[in-house]
Amino acid sequence: MKAIDRRTFLWLSAALLARPLTARAGLWPFQEERHEISGEEDIRGAIFKNDAPKTLWKWHKEGFSYDKLEESRVMCNICPNRCMLAPGDRSVCRSKVNMDGTLYSLAYGNPCSVHIDPVEKKPLFHFKPQTTAFSIAATGCNFRCLNCQNWEISQVKPHEVRHYDMFPQQVVEKAREAGAASVAYTYSEATTYFEYMIDTARLAKEAGLANLWISNGFINKEPLLELCKVINAANVNLKSFSDAIYRKLNGGRLQPVLDTFKTLHEQGVHFEMTTLVVPGYIDNPEMIKEMCGWIVANLGPDHPLHFLRFFPHYKLTRLPPTPISTLEHFRKLAMSEGIRYVYLGNLPDHPGSNTYCHQCGKLLIERRGYQLPVNNIKGGLCRFCRTAIPGVWL
Ligand code: SF4
Repeated sequence: MKAIDRRTFLWLSAALLARPLTARAGLWPFQEERHEISGEEDIRGAIFKNDAPKTLWKWHKEGFSYDKLEESRVMCNICPNRCMLAPGDRSVCRSKVNMDGTLYSLAYGNPCSVHIDPVEKKPLFHFKPQTTAFSIAATGCNFRCLNCQNWEISQVKPHEVRHYDMFPQQVVEKAREAGAASVAYTYSEATTYFEYMIDTARLAKEAGLANLWISNGFINKEPLLELCKVINAANVNLKSFSDAIYRKLNGGRLQPVLDTFKTLHEQGVHFEMTTLVVPGYIDNPEMIKEMCGWIVANLGPDHPLHFLRFFPHYKLTRLPPTPISTLEHFRKLAMSEGIRYVYLGNLPDHPGSNTYCHQCGKLLIERRGYQLPVNNIKGGLCRFCRTAIPGVWL
């Protein structure tokens, strides 16, 4: 039997006990699983016919960008789903409805999650470390990820969850009261509450706060360009480098996400990328190599890449956690392809979560959870060799 470390042993023991009795009959709690991914499998969401409310509630705003079509139909232009809604229909992301020929977002001023987080949690490792982000989410998502960590808020309709009453001006006031350096649009998929996000971000910018966009990157270019005017940093998922996996695991598509990275890069927005390494889906080193080659060729070597460890969740509880050796291998692979800053996440206190100077190799930032006991970046430069470290530093 392969040796496992103490942390993994404790985690597996807990997972085994937490599973239903019927599933405990076997000694090992997870099935071994390989996935033959074909281009035909697709879990993308569909619109909800005749699901709009009869009257508008307080928390609404007319759609930021949509087309009015014949017979009172509308088409939302925010993300590549381009939902086409007849009167009374609800969108794929569950947040938008067609009411009498007008598109409304029902996720406006009603965040279901409000927290103050360290910026490192987003994860953003090269943006004003040790500052806090006033973090909000309204319900909704344009994907259907089988492994969603936040499905309780992403895969529901706005009226199905308890929420706060917090319009954009109030978000900004609360963020300032909390002493936050930024407002983060996060947890669910911020693109699907675009109207709430952009109005809040504009006010936050006026108030001297930064804006952080945490996203799957599935957004059309026009709204993204508007967003780029007001955001200071982003963490965008690059969930895999295969359109077939995007369709089967996430209910999305790859190319629009790649286009988003190119736009963010061209617009000079600081961004970091995150890949959750899901066993059986995202564990092909050749795909990771190809992905990193694309990143370096199209975005350069300086945007940090985070590989996150998967833990069984939502519709993928049958899968095991990502082996640590896989994550370590991917980190080495990405660095050998030329990406300068590659991190491992969901692995507390692993050396792969530290920052090392790409020039002299010395330890710049040591991370222990969200604490930074060592920080050798001064004025954006390595304290040892004076090389400029990519990012936005205090
Ligand atoms: S943001 Fe929502 S309503 Fe608009 S196109 Fe995307 S999924 Fe459809």
